[in-house]
Amino acid sequence: MKPAFHPRLINDPFSDPGLFIPFMFQRRALLFDMGDLSRLSARELLKISHIFVTHMHMDHFIGFDQLLRLLLGRDKVVHLFGPTGFLEKVEAKLNAYTWNLIEQYENTLIFKVTEIQPGKSLVQTFTSSNRFRPVGTHREIPFMGNLLSERSFSVDGVILDHKIDCLGLSVREHFSVNIIKEGLEELGLPVGPWLREFKDALYEGRDGAEEFRVGWLDEDKERREKVFAMAELKKKIARISPGQKITYIVDMVGSKENMDKAVRLAMDSQHLFIEASFLDRDADIARRKYHLTAREAGLIASRAGAKEFTVFHFSPRYAGREEELIDEAMEAFRSGR
Ligand SMILES: [Zn+2]
Ligand SMILES: [Zn+2]
Repeated sequence: MKPAFHPRLINDPFSDPGLFIPFMFQRRALLFDMGDLSRLSARELLKISHIFVTHMHMDHFIGFDQLLRLLLGRDKVVHLFGPTGFLEKVEAKLNAYTWNLIEQYENTLIFKVTEIQPGKSLVQTFTSSNRFRPVGTHREIPFMGNLLSERSFSVDGVILDHKIDCLGLSVREHFSVNIIKEGLEELGLPVGPWLREFKDALYEGRDGAEEFRVGWLDEDKERREKVFAMAELKKKIARISPGQKITYIVDMVGSKENMDKAVRLAMDSQHLFIEASFLDRDADIARRKYHLTAREAGLIASRAGAKEFTVFHFSPRYAGREEELIDEAMEAFRSGR
């Protein structure tokens, strides 16, 4: 099975946290957190359409400037999400520069910024054509846990306690479509861009007797076309399976309430990326700093039934000893204790 998302941590576990999530076969990506982004190429950064910042501690947010530098002078809309205080912080970042020449630019860079608060979200637009000053007053909409919902996937968030609000994040494919090669051969259909359209049609919920036109160019560059009923084509060439879910949890204290929230968010994830800042023997420091221990990270992964999990965001005090953190998390994951 080919998953639609291929998430990878941007940096090593002692450096700034961040998860880059490119989409298979599309020039598009999501980003969870934006600490130091220098390991991402310009090509990768330009794919990013939506960025979710868990909280505005420096190691999770300093990459904003790198991104802004790259995007300036391009036509682009980037959606940014963050917790309580986010609008003010984004505005302050944009305010840190002098924009007296920007109105002469031919291109427009737009940030659509959403601040998540308990029960509501505030949406504000900042555009280069207005020197990045906020456009009008923010809009307020209810927040019930969903941050973004598209045809094929959703992003959900939960507010965790890190002494400040910190967003836990999950991206979930609604379902996954695999194309059966033998089915294509049987119908005499080649692979091609039409498969993308076919998948989109499935995500749109088209089914039954509805027509679907498969078009392609044959070896003589002649245009060919066959028409099918959606249900027939789906039965012959598509295998539908549950979608992939990826969860990203950083900076949170290991209180019962927080752990329960994290488990609910991460439930049945294919891959859970979770902070493990401290060893259990330093649990008192973890508490004071509102972070998880490796054992707590493993317990969350275990209770959520994560298929795979990766611990990261290690405190520098364990430099050269990352195995201890990984072992402790794995032990808790296996034993559930
Ligand atoms: Zn952090
Ligand atoms: Zn933090």
